[in-house]
Amino acid sequence: MAEPYKITQSEGKGSGVFAISTIPPGTTIMCDTPVLKLPRKLAQYTDEEVFRAFKELDEDSQARVMELHEGHRAFKTKLMRIFKANNFGYERFCVVYPKVSRINHSCVPNAAMNTRENLTTEIVATQPIRKGEEVYITYNGLFEGMTAGRRYRTLRAYYGFECRCPACALPPNDLILSDARRQLISVLDAKIRGFEPPNFHLIDHLTPTTAEQLAMQIRYDRMPLETPLTLPERAAYNLMLAKLLQAEHLTTSVVDAYRNAAYHLAEQMLQHEDIVIVACCQNVQAWMTKAIEAATSINGVESARAKSLGDEWREWQTVDHFKVYNMSRQGNLTDPGFLDGRDFAVRIGMFGPAHCSVLTMTALSRRECRALMQERLQKTSSL
Ligand SMILES: [Zn+2]
Repeated sequence: MAEPYKITQSEGKGSGVFAISTIPPGTTIMCDTPVLKLPRKLAQYTDEEVFRAFKELDEDSQARVMELHEGHRAFKTKLMRIFKANNFGYERFCVVYPKVSRINHSCVPNAAMNTRENLTTEIVATQPIRKGEEVYITYNGLFEGMTAGRRYRTLRAYYGFECRCPACALPPNDLILSDARRQLISVLDAKIRGFEPPNFHLIDHLTPTTAEQLAMQIRYDRMPLETPLTLPERAAYNLMLAKLLQAEHLTTSVVDAYRNAAYHLAEQMLQHEDIVIVACCQNVQAWMTKAIEAATSINGVESARAKSLGDEWREWQTVDHFKVYNMSRQGNLTDPGFLDGRDFAVRIGMFGPAHCSVLTMTALSRRECRALMQERLQKTSSL
């Protein structure tokens, strides 16, 4: 299939990648394989290391590396400047992509990198891109959680440009809100992953001379959380994260955040095997629906992500809790107490001998449900 983009001049940014036809979300815009690849290390790369990897390439690949944007950082050789301006860091390797390197940065990107284990990467549209519009990715996931001021300092120090994306060009009052949201995103995202939030204060003291050391510190200074999050925290943090990401138009991680919020709430609910809290089921359903909607609009209806979420949700609904919830929604719950307003929760029980037992359902008011849970809590803590 013909590629839906062309590389041409982008005002004030050198070259850029532009859509030559309308690109719906979920479309693979570009595929690329690394032209230069170095094993990831904790210290800075030396000129020799980069040169050694470069020398092993055939002539054609060498030429493709040397024609990339060289940036402005104070390294001795042009090769090192190109490497520094264009490399992407993964867990085990640092690589340079010849085509992806042509894509400019935005703090509100309309495309994302989808990298496989063999480091081949696909640039996939995460928002509808109109014909003639420029394609943007974000150069570093950490930008999602940085204030505009810190993004400005970072982008200027490492990439030598001033970002004029919609998030950086907001009017002052909106910018305050956006900054607050992004700071919260960084805290929530780190905690959900099991880490203390990254120390972005270091960026406030970024100068061309400290930039190289700080880059390493921000990347590796990640302290694990002292106390892991509880299930209610996991659900709540993921839900907040999803809403903040949506408000910032950062679509890529929205799907996972809603799905994880639903998953952790369901997990929490299933700790009581026999109690179905109606509002919990309602929330799980609402958040799973949002995850599926987001996956459909970002990845496309036919996408593997949308389909697997749909399958997952169907599987959850085979659990007794959701069966009972569905019965209550369809008015098929016969306990008169439920219709009488004691509709906060339903207690599931079994009646009769094991071989022919029947499922019984008893309606519980909020007070009854709380009393029952408290009684159990006391029993477990006295054990
Ligand atoms: Zn920006």
